[in-house]
Amino acid sequence: MHLISSPKKMQQLSFSLKSKGKKISFVPTMGALHKGHLSLVEKARKLGDFVVVSIFVNPTQFGPGEDFQRYPRDLKRDKKLLQKAGCDLLFIPKVKDIYPEGYLTYVEVEELSQKLEGAFRPNHFRGVCTVVAKLFNLVQPDFAIFGQKDAQQAVIIKKMTEDLNFPIKIIVSPTVREKDRLAFSSRNSYLNLEERKQAKVLHQTLKLGKEMIKTGEKSPKKIINKMREMIEKTSLAKIDYIALTDSERLEPVKTIKGELLLSLAVRIGKIRLIDNLKLRV
Ligand code: AMP
Repeated sequence: MHLISSPKKMQQLSFSLKSKGKKISFVPTMGALHKGHLSLVEKARKLGDFVVVSIFVNPTQFGPGEDFQRYPRDLKRDKKLLQKAGCDLLFIPKVKDIYPEGYLTYVEVEELSQKLEGAFRPNHFRGVCTVVAKLFNLVQPDFAIFGQKDAQQAVIIKKMTEDLNFPIKIIVSPTVREKDRLAFSSRNSYLNLEERKQAKVLHQTLKLGKEMIKTGEKSPKKIINKMREMIEKTSLAKIDYIALTDSERLEPVKTIKGELLLSLAVRIGKIRLIDNLKLRV
């Protein structure tokens, strides 16, 4: 597995691979890798000839008081996992090279970035889009693979790719879950034993909503209220939001029809977790 940290070298290598007709598939991550990330690498291998994974804990997507400084970092372990998973190149740029002194340019996908997560994390998607646009320019991928776990991020990246004419196919890959159905997340490592036990309520609540829809409930309000009740019975859990929206514009739905996104953000103790289910009715 090659290792590159210089943005310029990364871009040169990508141009050279492309001139030889190689298809590049790309998985951007913030490291602290788990089975969710590795499933994206697996998909990347199937799609392209050359797999690039980036690890970059992106400061511009963290708000004040969020966990940028203490975000889990374990490059040695990540390298081993990626080598085993068949990654061809690991790109690990430094913050000072991605945002050199005097950096001024940001990418913002309007409207979509203000909803759901955006209402609680004001500049989050501006940071995400900026870094992903820069990584796209450096890695020059044919395919970029993102997880359904971050459903809103995937919707926004698709929109940015379309709006800015990046010649890249965005692939969204299913959420990988632990045995008790908690979605893998680098932040799960912050949970203590009791919090970890209670964290399974996120998926249980989504499943409750899904069952209600499946058995014919027509009122989004009733569905969300029942879900809310379930979480409120969990002692360490505090709801940021529970939403039933369409899956593209992320607008709350009035009627249960079409492709829907049931999503939530819940704090378990101090740890904020998100999850979602996509449903077709
Ligand atoms: P992160 O390192 O958290 O920024 O995530 C990097 C990529 O992995 C994003 O596209 C995430 O959506 C994806 N991802 C994170 N957790 C999971 C999971 N449990 N299953 C599938 N993809 C995931």
